[in-house]
Amino acid sequence: MQPLSSIFETPVDALVEIAPQCLVIGSGTSGVTAAIELAQRGLRVAVIEAGPFVLSEHIGSTPFADQHEMVPRIHDLVRRRTVWTDSAHEADAKAGQLAPNNNAWEAVGGRTLFWGGCTPRFIDSDFHDWPYDADHFRPWYERAEQLISASGYNDGTGEVPHFIAETGPLVSRLAEAGITATCPPLGIDTRAVRDGRMSRGFDSSVSRLLRCPAFGRRADGAKLTLTAECAAVDLLLDGATVRGVRVLDRRSGRHLDLHADEVILAGGAVQSTRLALAAGLDRIDPLVGRYVGDHLFVQAALKLPAPLHHKAVYLFIPPLPDRPYHVQMQGMFSNKWYNPLDATMWLDGEAHGDTLLYYCFGASRATDEARVVLTGQPGDPLRGYAVINDRTPEDLATLEAMEDFVQHVGGALGAQVARVERHHAGAALHEFGGLRMGTDPSSSVTDPDGRFRRVANLVCVDSAIWPSQGSANSYLTITATALRNAEKLAARLSATTPELASQGA
Ligand SMILES: Cc1cc2nc3c(=O)[nH]c(=O)nc-3n(C[C@H](O)[C@H](O)[C@H](O)COP(=O)(O)OP(=O)(O)OC[C@H]3O[C@@H](n4cnc5c(N)ncnc54)[C@H](O)[C@@H]3O)c2cc1C
Repeated sequence: MQPLSSIFETPVDALVEIAPQCLVIGSGTSGVTAAIELAQRGLRVAVIEAGPFVLSEHIGSTPFADQHEMVPRIHDLVRRRTVWTDSAHEADAKAGQLAPNNNAWEAVGGRTLFWGGCTPRFIDSDFHDWPYDADHFRPWYERAEQLISASGYNDGTGEVPHFIAETGPLVSRLAEAGITATCPPLGIDTRAVRDGRMSRGFDSSVSRLLRCPAFGRRADGAKLTLTAECAAVDLLLDGATVRGVRVLDRRSGRHLDLHADEVILAGGAVQSTRLALAAGLDRIDPLVGRYVGDHLFVQAALKLPAPLHHKAVYLFIPPLPDRPYHVQMQGMFSNKWYNPLDATMWLDGEAHGDTLLYYCFGASRATDEARVVLTGQPGDPLRGYAVINDRTPEDLATLEAMEDFVQHVGGALGAQVARVERHHAGAALHEFGGLRMGTDPSSSVTDPDGRFRRVANLVCVDSAIWPSQGSANSYLTITATALRNAEKLAARLSATTPELASQGA
């Protein structure tokens, strides 16, 4: 029997024969969002993905969500270990002598198979060093929220999940201490079945791709295709133009050269940056690979005086302009600590639990010294890198304030702070930078639309282009960034391609 994927995947040889107009590298939310947008505007788009096809939707929307033993094993099929460290350990990192301390995922759908579902927007002040402001970006936030069937937003279609009703007493205690708490914004379709359509659960780029009417096999004439287990290992440059992408077909072990009019980097901030470095783009622009950072992340466990008798509690304390971090509190648990290998943490609670898991994420900026370095490890080309990041004095001050805030919240709830931990850079899994965008060519690799300034047909649509990480977790803003940059790219291409213009690109 053929595998399921044979009915929708396009073999890599077909991409060699008929070059797509746009080649998207990566199938996470950034890649799939951009690919669908481009295909819907009439372009022939191929997505290549280094990892295999393992799930057709987020794990929390599948029956595996209840298989607590199996879920980590599913992660392990597509998880690899990575290194984030500080400049004091750079030499060891480059020599490949540091034990891995972080995770990355390679699969069709990328991290959208496993992410946690929290989708706040950046607040206006988070955009202060971006090349555009919050007002400019708002329409893409609105479209991205519709795309991922977000709950609890103000477009009239989302319904707020009812966690808040269950946690009313906690909200009141926080309010008495001057802390506003709300329901978290979620990238989860919680609407009732309607118009013959089932709710979609957690957003995942793989299910969005499979649902897209333009998606199918190249042999069947589809505008939007997927080729899995196909890793981009080099960009083939002809002067200042990308003439092709060298890929490793992991199934056969062959290297092949693919051609496309436009190449779109969507491997996640670190991998898009790593590929640019592997292609030697830092020789064209020394800023390539720099200003790499991650969300600030402090975690805690708050033990309440008594159980709430609710299994699924979820509270969100939004950031403020002078409090550049937010808090997510999930419960109830009796004895648990955050584990990224769980299926749906906050839906796996215990009715008699008395402990809330507390996650605080803070805005962060990186310096030009914070960067991806190639470690030249032989073997798999995607794995030979490390990220070097020293916390800035500003980041350290925010981290301290975040730790103080745990005590403040714990006190307001009458809870005992049972454990607090400040995580190293990288652990939040909300990385950014490496291909920084800006309006000034002397301080940016890409323009505000993610277009490389010194390479003609290369665009980045993921958080590698972000100048900084705002207070909000990254998923929604990555999705909106990808949507925006794809729209800008399609508009540019339609200006030079009359048949696209007539299709409304
Ligand atoms: C357990 C967990 C919980 C999370 N919870 C939240 C949350 O609640 N809220 C939130 O906002 N964010 C959350 N995140 C983070 C969020 O999932 C990511 O920020 C976001 O999904 C990243 O999307 P991306 O498309 O940029 O990258 P990815 O999802 O990493 O996708 C990139 C894909 O590109 C592929 N790729 C890379 N390089 C190549 C190459 N050279 N050739 C071919 N393919 C390549 C990779 O294999 C990967 O599949 C969570 C992440 C995890 C792991």
